[in-house]
Amino acid sequence: MTNRLKAYGIVPRKSLGQNFLIEEATARRIVDAAEIRSNDLVFEIGPGGGALTKHLTKRAGRVVAIELDQALIPALRDELGGAQNVSIVHGDALEVDFSRLAREAEQVFGKPFDAVRFVANLPYYITSAAIRRILECRLPVAAAVLTVQTEVAERVTAQPPHMSLLAVSVQFYGRPEIMFKIPPSQFYPQPEVESAVLRIKPHAQPLSSDAQGFFRVVKAGFSQPRKQLRNTLAAGLGMDKARVESALRSSGIDPSRRAETLSLEEWERLTLTLCQKQNRSPS
Ligand code: SAM
Repeated sequence: MTNRLKAYGIVPRKSLGQNFLIEEATARRIVDAAEIRSNDLVFEIGPGGGALTKHLTKRAGRVVAIELDQALIPALRDELGGAQNVSIVHGDALEVDFSRLAREAEQVFGKPFDAVRFVANLPYYITSAAIRRILECRLPVAAAVLTVQTEVAERVTAQPPHMSLLAVSVQFYGRPEIMFKIPPSQFYPQPEVESAVLRIKPHAQPLSSDAQGFFRVVKAGFSQPRKQLRNTLAAGLGMDKARVESALRSSGIDPSRRAETLSLEEWERLTLTLCQKQNRSPS
């Protein structure tokens, strides 16, 4: 694959996060982790030279691969060797309309897909935004298998007392796990840090019916993560401190705790209590 990129005169662009996977066995392990079936639609973000794409096309009903760098597309087509079940979209994965692309893919496929899966060796500069887009896309996503920096994977999968806004945001939508790590030597050019393959399986039922209210409370809580919740919530939600303390206590949460120590269930309980107290979403 590296040879093919070189033959097309492609010089990897750091600004687009271009570190191409060169270890065939690892590409297979990543695709295995996605548990793709023959009636599934797979979205790939940043197919690059096709290291993952060629395996995806062998397993999925249809693959939609979204690549921002037009210069890579001829080499990608070449690598895919005329596979019929793939659409290559030249575009920005942070801008494309996944629902529209899924509808178009379904028309070509001729029947509804059983599930939608996302697979990507993500360009690191779009990691958080891409994860957010995937989890909020409103398609029936069965799993997202994403190569990210190990440090990010560890933050996403953290548990109390090491939670962050990122961990709560991902775990609100799904269950993340680290499948395995990839050393820099398996990419061309080598990135500076170790990578990890993160798999997120969205929850069958949303954790809360009021996502907006939930995130308003969580964001207020994490606005000053080193401070006690009684202070951050009162300031962030513009509420009286006594009322915040009472809401925390009736949710079984000590008001002197910090945001990073709360579990998802505790945030949910707190949101419900605050909503009851205000008789509307906290604002
Ligand atoms: N999947 C290939 C692999 O595993 O070898 C390439 C992975 S490389 C880490 C990231 C890829 O994402 C590059 O091909 C890059 O051009 C592409 N890319 C960067 N930003 C993008 C964006 N906003 N939307 C879609 N693709 C993007």
